Amino acid sequence: MCSKFAEKFEKNVLRTIKDYSLASKSDKVVVACSGGKDSTSVAGILLENGYDTEALHIDLGIGDWSKKNRGNISSFCSERGIKLHIASTRDYFGSSVCYLKSSLQAKANLTSCSVCGVMKKWILNRKAREIGAAMLATGHNLEDEARTAAMNLINGNPELNLFSSPGRKANGKIFVPRIKPLYFCSTPDIERYSREMEFPVLYDRCPCSKGSFGRNVVEELETVSGGFPELKMNFVRTFLEIQKKAPVCGKTAVVCNFCGEPSRRGVCRTCSMLSMLRKPVVNPSRGT
Ligand code: AMP
Ligand code: ZN
Repeated sequence: MCSKFAEKFEKNVLRTIKDYSLASKSDKVVVACSGGKDSTSVAGILLENGYDTEALHIDLGIGDWSKKNRGNISSFCSERGIKLHIASTRDYFGSSVCYLKSSLQAKANLTSCSVCGVMKKWILNRKAREIGAAMLATGHNLEDEARTAAMNLINGNPELNLFSSPGRKANGKIFVPRIKPLYFCSTPDIERYSREMEFPVLYDRCPCSKGSFGRNVVEELETVSGGFPELKMNFVRTFLEIQKKAPVCGKTAVVCNFCGEPSRRGVCRTCSMLSMLRKPVVNPSRGT
């Protein structure tokens, strides 16, 4: 039996799916499952509500932490009959994330999270396309979105916030549409839901993410605002409101000249990172 809180939480997530037309029951929705509370909750809610749900996990090879996450998502999926796809950086780039991160950090001023984030995004899109996903659902939540919006402003890329939304449509066949059913859900609510549902997940952060600048920025914002609870919601909703009033022209689809994956420039960030290590992408064939 679900508690009143859990029922309300699920209703809110389903409302986001409906309001933003994120998916229909005939779509194959592949959930990017890290093994954490957010993406596991997304997979659980979609499955329970009749969506054609599969899971995609990237084994990052970060010691015990990755082993536990992989074990957790495997048991979650097998208990519920969810098809689980597993990929790793080794499959595509021939090395573990840890090796790639430390080699790149020795050559360039890159944070651990930025290397990992770029590689994860690349694999998620490639693998989701290979397995015929109609869309890729992620566990991005309100804090993630507020952090990204703040980072875009700080980094001098405010226009990127105009593309942020619970759902991003395909722009050509290369980019697998993204959906973020937890876009308006706060971390404490997701954690409470996941604990009530007794999902087998770790509640600790990735051991490599300590001191991440993006996380610190949002935590700082919370501190100066005295923990004002609506701050993040207002911040994120502001950009959705601007989008309604001033629709932006669609970004033209650009693909990387080397790997054929979506890119904002001629060479994607994954390929430019790999080129610093003189490593080509292992499977360079252009997907369709
Ligand atoms: P992060 O970039 O770690 O904040 O994660 C954002 C979202 O990306 C998560 O909610 C997941 O949906 C997805 N994700 C992160 N790590 C993995 C992983 N190892 N395997 C599959 N999906 C992941
Ligand atoms: Zn590339």
